[in-house]
Amino acid sequence: MKKRNVYLDNSATTQVRKEVLEEMLPYFTEIYGNASSVHTFGQEAKAALIKARETFAKLINADSPEEIIFTSCGTEADNIAIAGSLIANKGKHVITSRIEHHAILFTCQNLEKHGYRADYISTDKIGRINIEELKNKITDDTVIISIMHANNEIGVIEPVEEVSKILKEINKTRKNKILLHTDAVQTAGKLKLDVQKLGVDLLSVSGHKFYGPKGIGTLYIRKGTNIEPLFHGGHHEFGMKPGTENVAGIVGMTKALELANSEMEEESKKIFYLRNKLAKGIVEKIPEVVINTDLNNSVAGILSVSFNYIEGETLLLMLDMAGIAASAGSACATGSAEPSHVLSAIGANPLAAQGTLRFSFGRYNTEEDIDYVLEVLPNLVERARKMSPVWNSK
Ligand SMILES: *Cc1c(COP(=O)(O)O)cnc(C)c1O
Repeated sequence: MKKRNVYLDNSATTQVRKEVLEEMLPYFTEIYGNASSVHTFGQEAKAALIKARETFAKLINADSPEEIIFTSCGTEADNIAIAGSLIANKGKHVITSRIEHHAILFTCQNLEKHGYRADYISTDKIGRINIEELKNKITDDTVIISIMHANNEIGVIEPVEEVSKILKEINKTRKNKILLHTDAVQTAGKLKLDVQKLGVDLLSVSGHKFYGPKGIGTLYIRKGTNIEPLFHGGHHEFGMKPGTENVAGIVGMTKALELANSEMEEESKKIFYLRNKLAKGIVEKIPEVVINTDLNNSVAGILSVSFNYIEGETLLLMLDMAGIAASAGSACATGSAEPSHVLSAIGANPLAAQGTLRFSFGRYNTEEDIDYVLEVLPNLVERARKMSPVWNSK
């Protein structure tokens, strides 16, 4: 089979759509004014900013545009949500899950060094959080609960709505209401985000995961939420995120979400089909594999597979030479034998976890891409296993 380039790392980042780039271009050149300036140059940029904020608010069903804070990325939105609400409120306690993105986990761990307390909820074997455990961890000084909407390594969708319903009941009897945050970076553009239906107070999004530009994100903050900024220096973004606005990025991310929402149904049907075809093909053609993604409770675009007895990194490099881009599902810090925190949380066998890859699909993938992967992957796995001492001694 002829070598082809196949990009299956869409959960790491995506390419900017042509329509998005076109929408952005004028804001680098003609409409370059500072949105805070009073002259016409500035006011044109400001008009674009206002329009984008209104559009974005509608896209996630926020009550008002003032609830939309444009940030520099998803990581920044997560940091403001967690640290900003802990600083602003009396309590010292945050509850999150064991399978969050590092933008949440490391933020919580850092806060623990500064006198705050964090609890990390365990999950079942498909990665869904243990709701009973979460309820039991709530204390008088719990300020915020942060549960991701879908996981970036295995794709599992978390019961955020259920958590919000439970919290609503609990909050009825509390003076200091517990806030609910969700990191929706892996679902924006893939599932319809509705902050009312989800019942969240805070929600994070990142532009580059749904064919928008890098370096731009959004934090939704429900009106009335007690939260403080982490940065200081201006009135921008209602004081929550000071600094001259990235108007091109904001316009681009908003356009990208608009497009994604309007094409969601057909796109996700296609992506589900491609993902499930690859999963089925891998199980049929390759012995000793474990599909870590629950195909019935996950976002369409993610497939995590463990290839027993090999190193994920080895396979990743072999795939790269064949033109296929995927990512290691296990901790890819070189030399680290630790399996990823997500695979540990779902109770994956640590040895198997080392041979884990994440294939993540997007709108530009085709059936030919999947056929090509299914053609080359079995041989590569066999070759990698021949080099593996554990495979040879079994
Ligand atoms: C990519 C990602 C982030 C970080 O977003 P950036 O914009 O790259 O900082 C946060 N959370 C999840 C779940 C992600 O997949």
